[in-house]
Amino acid sequence: MDYISTRGSAPALDFEGATLAGLASDGGLYVPREWPRFSADEIAAMAGLPYADLAARVMAPFVKGSLTDERLLELTRQAYGRFSHEAVTPLKQLDAQQWLLELFHGPTLAFKDVALQLLGLLFEEFLGRSGGNLTIVGATSGDTGSAAIDAVAGRAKVDIFMLHPKGRVSDVQRRQMTTVLAPNVHNLALEHASFDDAQAIVKRMFNDGAMTGRYAIGAVNSINWARLMAQVVYYFAAGLQLGAPHRKVAFSVPTGNFGDVFAGYVAAQMGLPIERLIVATNVNDILHRALAQGDYSQGTVTPTAAPSMDIQVSSNFERLLFDLGGRDGLALAAQMAGFETTRAMQLTNAQREGAAALFTSSRTDADDMASTIRWAWERCGELIDPHTACGLFAARTCGIDPAIPVVTLATAHPAKFPEAVERATGQRPVLPTRVGDLFEREEKYETLAGEYDAVAAFVAAHASPRA
Ligand SMILES: *Cc1c(COP(=O)(O)O)cnc(C)c1O
Repeated sequence: MDYISTRGSAPALDFEGATLAGLASDGGLYVPREWPRFSADEIAAMAGLPYADLAARVMAPFVKGSLTDERLLELTRQAYGRFSHEAVTPLKQLDAQQWLLELFHGPTLAFKDVALQLLGLLFEEFLGRSGGNLTIVGATSGDTGSAAIDAVAGRAKVDIFMLHPKGRVSDVQRRQMTTVLAPNVHNLALEHASFDDAQAIVKRMFNDGAMTGRYAIGAVNSINWARLMAQVVYYFAAGLQLGAPHRKVAFSVPTGNFGDVFAGYVAAQMGLPIERLIVATNVNDILHRALAQGDYSQGTVTPTAAPSMDIQVSSNFERLLFDLGGRDGLALAAQMAGFETTRAMQLTNAQREGAAALFTSSRTDADDMASTIRWAWERCGELIDPHTACGLFAARTCGIDPAIPVVTLATAHPAKFPEAVERATGQRPVLPTRVGDLFEREEKYETLAGEYDAVAAFVAAHASPRA
C-alpha cells in the first residue's frame, strides 16, 4: 500500500516509510492512497478470531509490501500478549442499549497502549532492516507519553523526547512517564504551556530542516498513520461481537486529537456497518462546533477532569477534511494555511455534509461528567474514568435508535483519575497490581520553558545524529 500526504506535495511512501516519517515533509499527514474494502462475507469470516489474529487480518492490506502476513501476525501476538485481559479489548454490557469497550488493559492503563505496543515493535523491525536510528519527539496530554515510553524504553536505536504541559497531567499519568529511568527516555515538562503549545513545538520540529537534516525524527503521536491503523481493529472486534456484518452498531468516542474516532471512520470505509460515530468532547469543544456549525476555530484550552481531551487543535481532523473534500491536497493545504494564520476556518459545504452523514457530536460539561460517572456506578456497578464519562454521556443523550447498540470506548482505567471518580461516587478506584509501586519510585524529568528554541536545543544536546 502507498501512502500520500493530505497536503498534496510530499512524496508517496510505502508503509515502512510512512511509519518512520510520521509527519509528511509538506506538513501534511499520511493517508493510504485508497481504502481497502472487505466484503460482508470476509467480515463474517472474522467472527470469533482471537484479537491478535483479527488484528493481523484487518491490518494486512495496509502493510502490504512492507510486512508479510506471517510476520505481521507474529508482531500482533507479541504486542497483544502484554495485555492483562485475554480478550485484549473486552466488551461489557451496561443496559439494554449501552455497552463499554474496555481499551485500558495494556501496560499503562489507557487505549494508547493498543497502538503503541505495536508501533514500538514496528520501529524495531524497520530500523533493524535499515540499520538506521530514530529520534522520537512527541507531545502528550497525559496518556500517549506513558504508552510510548513503555513501548520504546531501553530499545536500541531509539531515543524518545516526550513533552508534557507542566502541572496539567494527573499524578498517575506523570509518574508513569517520569519513573521510567532508561537512558533513552527524556521527559520534558514545559512551563506555562498547554498540550496545543507542546504539539505545535513538535510539528515545528518536523518542519525544521536543520533538525530533520541532522536527526531522523519520528512521531508517536496520532499523526503517525500506524497508530490509527492499529485502532481500526477494535471497532471490528466490537462490531463482530454485536452482530456485524448483519447488524449496525453506533460508537461513542471520547475525542481530543480526533485519532481514535478517525479510526472508526476508517473501519466504516473498510465495510464495517456503522450507524453513527459520536464525537464526544468535554468543554474544549472545537470539534463539536466544527461538526455542528462548520466553525473550526481555536478557543483557549480550559483544564478539565478529562485532561487527555483538553485540546483545541485536533490534528487528525485534517485527514477527514482531506477525504471529504475529494482528496484535493493542494486545496486542503490552502485551507490549512489559512487556519494556521487566523486560527479559524469554515468547513466547506461538501465537508459539512460529508461529515454529517456519519458523525454526530456532543459536548460534556463538568456536571454531566460527574453525573454520568455516578450513573455508571449506581446503576451498573461500573467505575468509569472522566474521559469515558464524556463518551457515555453522549451515547445516552444523542438520540440513537433504541434498536441499535451503542458502544462507548472506555479509553482509560478509572484509577488513572482517582480524584474525579471518588468525588462523583465516593469510591476510590484501585490501581491494578501490574503498575506496581508507582508512587514509591524515583522520578526523572527536565523542566524547560515552553518555547521552541529551548526544546530544540535540548534535543540537539541529547539525541544521536542520523546513523
Ligand atoms: C488520548 C485520549 C483521548 C483522546 O483520543 P484522540 O485519539 O486524541 O481523540 C481520550 N481519552 C483518553 C483517556 C486518552 O488518553
